[in-house]
Amino acid sequence: MKRRALITGITGQDGAYLAEFLLAKDYEVHGMVRRSSTENFERIEHLHHLLALHQADLLDQLSLINLLQEVRPREVYNLAAQSFIPTSFQQPLLTGEFTALGVTRVLEAIRLVDAEIRFFQATSSEVFGNAREEPQNEQTYFRPRSPYGASKAYGHWIAVNYRESYRIFACSGIMFNHESPLRGKEFVTRKTTDAVARIKLGLQTELTLGNLDAMRDWGFAGDYVRAAWLMLQQDAPDDYVIATGEKHSVREMLDIAFGHAGLNWQEHVRIDPKLLRPADVNTLRGDARKAREILGWRPTVAFPELIRTMVDADLERVRKEAGDRG
Ligand code: GDP
Repeated sequence: MKRRALITGITGQDGAYLAEFLLAKDYEVHGMVRRSSTENFERIEHLHHLLALHQADLLDQLSLINLLQEVRPREVYNLAAQSFIPTSFQQPLLTGEFTALGVTRVLEAIRLVDAEIRFFQATSSEVFGNAREEPQNEQTYFRPRSPYGASKAYGHWIAVNYRESYRIFACSGIMFNHESPLRGKEFVTRKTTDAVARIKLGLQTELTLGNLDAMRDWGFAGDYVRAAWLMLQQDAPDDYVIATGEKHSVREMLDIAFGHAGLNWQEHVRIDPKLLRPADVNTLRGDARKAREILGWRPTVAFPELIRTMVDADLERVRKEAGDRG
């Protein structure tokens, strides 16, 4: 019998990488999708025929219960969320419904339908926010700085609670920023690599950004979904920081991305104060020692290589789109 996994958020960056990873491990992969008038399957188009997709919603408890009863998975990966921080300031309540309470709804469904299901919660390094220590590890105090960060902190603790209260095999992966050519274009790395491609090909001249001094610990999404899977294969559930241990500024990222295309970012980047956040997280850097020692997990892609790969992928895509148009 094939192992069966259910992924919420399967149409997102991590969902697509995890689906591919699990298919390669011969899993039967099910994905939860939200009904919408416009379909958003481009990240999983190449896998579509290998996946079973089901409509359900993190806001609707009964839909989650029915989904688990129908699929009866062995593993559930909760990757769905409202994950863009500026939107979380504009829609804090909706963000809390999806990103915080949504986790409880999935856990309640697990408790009701099959308490043996192994559960992975995608927590974010944004829970550390204005961290007082560096690097951040599993013991670091949470000081989130956005409705998104606060919602992810709730999601983390409710997963821990269901583990302690009901003995559910629930793991929380505290994931630092992770990127790839499939990253949403609203996030700063992909926004940049997409703009670099468009500038290089003469389709755009300028890129507007906010805080260039922010520093992040940026890794490759493909490495991070492997860590999620590893957590669910252990004898006991636990929480792990997943990070590269290196931090870089937005400015350094610009140097690498524009430099790779033979461009100078100072000639193209304009600061727009509207893109500054009400409160920003200035710097994050993770300590993934526990994941390294217990899971044997290590990141495989270094930061400059990650950004260059994203630029190359965007150059190829934009070139093709321009060619298709005429
Ligand atoms: P986050 O860590 O989840 O907020 O990931 P993002 O990629 O959205 O942002 C990373 C950092 O880049 C934050 O500190 C942002 O303030 C900074 N940043 C600077 N300019 C921009 C921009 O135009 N868009 C985004 N998304 N972030 C920006």
